[in-house]
Amino acid sequence: MITKFIKRILRRDPMAKHTQANKAGAPKRIPKKAHRIDPHLLSKNAVKVTHTLQEAGFEAFIVGGAVRDLALGIGPKDFDVATNATPDQVQRLFRKARLIGRRFQIVHVTFFGKGHPEIIEVSTFRALLDNAGDHVAESGRILRDNVWGSQGEDAARRDFTINAMYYDPSSETVLDYHGGMADMQKKTLRMIGDPTKRYREDPIRMLRAIRFAAKTGFTLDTATRAPIATLSNLLQDVPSARLFDEILKLLMSGYSWAAIQGLRDAGLHHGLLPLLDHILDSGVDSKGANDFVKLALANTDQRIQSGKSVSAGFLFATLLWPDLLKNWKANIAKGISNISALHDAMDDTIATQSSSMTIQRRLESDMCEIWSMQPRFEKRVGRYPYRLIESPRFRAAYDFMLLRCATGEQNPSLGEWWTDFIAADPVGQEALMATAKTELGSSASSPAKRRRRRKPKSDPSPEPEAD
Ligand code: ATP
Ligand code: MG
Repeated sequence: MITKFIKRILRRDPMAKHTQANKAGAPKRIPKKAHRIDPHLLSKNAVKVTHTLQEAGFEAFIVGGAVRDLALGIGPKDFDVATNATPDQVQRLFRKARLIGRRFQIVHVTFFGKGHPEIIEVSTFRALLDNAGDHVAESGRILRDNVWGSQGEDAARRDFTINAMYYDPSSETVLDYHGGMADMQKKTLRMIGDPTKRYREDPIRMLRAIRFAAKTGFTLDTATRAPIATLSNLLQDVPSARLFDEILKLLMSGYSWAAIQGLRDAGLHHGLLPLLDHILDSGVDSKGANDFVKLALANTDQRIQSGKSVSAGFLFATLLWPDLLKNWKANIAKGISNISALHDAMDDTIATQSSSMTIQRRLESDMCEIWSMQPRFEKRVGRYPYRLIESPRFRAAYDFMLLRCATGEQNPSLGEWWTDFIAADPVGQEALMATAKTELGSSASSPAKRRRRRKPKSDPSPEPEAD
């Protein structure tokens, strides 16, 4: 009964809030010849969603990052739609529509095509937080964020001007409330409203600023950039899972190296990843670590930009590797046997990381597998190589080992050997193992070998169980 009443009140809200649209100011209407969005970059499904909603008498627009990317001439990776229809009204219009979220409901409309299913996220125009706050006192906690508003309000609660544009595929018009298109032309990333207030409301916006600046190559507007240096400690209060999501987005943006430089320049990297503290703060000492991470991120960026998949576990394994390597060497120096030293180091590295930002368990186990397989690449005789190849995570561990070779931390000939071994037939594999045996005795003087970690004589080197 009460729920029904609340729903009725909320359903009335979008209408009531329309009066406030004027307060937010009328949007600038930008025609096709000015925005030059190429309709071919649009998702057919997103257009289907806006059309269906419009035919049912609602307003509906493609919104947010998709419009930003379209205006940049980039094909967006996902499409969000904003509408004045309530989630219930949206759900009734589509066959595969699911209500998501408890406090502020949105609708996921799923389309099944030839490739992966595409989800179009449909949200109802949302009111500003201030107004929502008023609602809390009268209506109770559950309603806090669940207040729908006008399009103008919806625009004002978005983060950057270039993320607050609405595109109507039917008229091919962009509605621009905050001068986003002018900022696009000036290549400026500008926070809507008072930047300090907006960062205080949600400190994640500081990381988003750096990510979008790296992705677009835009410059942060002075007033948008200025408060970040003094507010960076607010990130400590952000729930770890949310922080992790944002860091992952940053690393998977295809511009991770630029973004990490941006984090350092803004003084935002402290406490996010211990490794970033090490490599970004000190120069000479961490040269090797810096090279390793730089190469790993450059590879990742290249893969993402060419549409290839990237494993987040692999990525975090590389980011934390220099820290792990340092711990591993220190443990060996204490007299701990090689494999135990590695496993202890893994525990330490993960514990230090968790104290600032916890990495998802699933990724943690991927990372540990990749790390713990590294010493096994050095065993190139008997059954060892065959067993290693059969491990489910072999490919990731092998790619990781190649990265170590590329930065000289591991002997490049080891990488070449494994590359040949994978490609060889059984006879060739036997021959390669024979060369590995002779190499064992003769390579001690090669430069990379000198850099290579040496196992203590007493080390029983128990081979980790085959996976
Ligand atoms: P991308 O998906 O390429 O990472 P995006 O801009 O689409 O970029 P999303 O996280 O998908 O980012 O968010 C969609 C839109 O929601 C944004 O464009 C912005 O308008 C709004 N938004 C997202 N996060 C915030 C936030 N923390 N504060 C204010 N508005 C936000
Ligand atoms: Mg998006």
